[in-house]
Amino acid sequence: MITGKTKLLGVIGDPIEHSLSPVMHNAAIASLNLDYVYLPFRLKREDLVKAIAGLAAINLLGFNVTIPHKQAIIPLLSQVSQRAQMVGAVNTVFWTPQGWSGTNTDVAGFVAPLKALNRDWTKITPVILGNGGAARAVVVGCAELGCPEIRVVGRDKEKLDYFKQSWANSPLDGAIRVHSLEELPGLVWTTELLVNTTPVGMYPNVESSPLAEELMGKIQPGAIAYDLIYNPRPTKWLKAAAARGAIAIDGLEMLVQQGAAALEIWLQQPVPADVMRQACMNC
Ligand code: NAP
Repeated sequence: MITGKTKLLGVIGDPIEHSLSPVMHNAAIASLNLDYVYLPFRLKREDLVKAIAGLAAINLLGFNVTIPHKQAIIPLLSQVSQRAQMVGAVNTVFWTPQGWSGTNTDVAGFVAPLKALNRDWTKITPVILGNGGAARAVVVGCAELGCPEIRVVGRDKEKLDYFKQSWANSPLDGAIRVHSLEELPGLVWTTELLVNTTPVGMYPNVESSPLAEELMGKIQPGAIAYDLIYNPRPTKWLKAAAARGAIAIDGLEMLVQQGAAALEIWLQQPVPADVMRQACMNC
């Protein structure tokens, strides 16, 4: 029940209607029997500055940030974690006596299902398809796991070069290699971790695949095929990779674990990831 004492959490983005975050967070809050509520706030780009001040004024305890505000919010925060600075995006904000503080829980979300696998990450060179926002969290996650070199494959040379340059002043600079799509056939067989960060295969384009049919046979048996997409689960290529002996991970666990990591920051206590996962699966 919402009362005069109920504490407020939420998510800002545009669009926001599709977000699973309210369902996932409110399910966890209910199972913990806490007097909090998590709300979606549709926020246009041009309203970000006044909204940040407004959210503080109404005593919101914290909020998630999604497209298109993940980068734009950074200069408006009083503190930004090293991880978020490295990724170049903030997805979780919490109130401190100094003002709004931002971090990035997508990295923790991405690595969570990988940590559960027993691999020597120092011997693995991941191949990442796509060089957008999510790819940045994946790169930082792979580096945190211990992968010494990370290969990023993109379709647009200019954007790929910009992606490479954007790490120039970071500790990851020397670890990142960028490759054109034409180089992909020569890379697939070399890796034990192949990650799709493109939206190719996402609903409604469920018949598309980021990996051409003839490349599927190049995936090493026992390699990890990881798709950040969670609608559908699994995507076409993930299903095909699993059929060829790969270990398939879809995007639901990343979604759940980034949410759980954010909720733990706001509540300062352990949260039930299983409840959050089930709430998403029921949607
Ligand atoms: P983004 O910033 O728009 O980046 C998308 C990347 O995919 C870009 O490099 C883009 O290339 C590339 N791409 C798009 N269409 C392509 C195509 N037809 N062929 C080859 N490459 C293509 O998006 P994002 O925020 O990184 O999100 C990417 C995906 O990850 C989405 O499906 C999103 O739902 C998912 N995601 C999941 C989670 C989770 O928690 N599971 C979290 C974040 C994101 P160009 O730059 O050349 O256009």
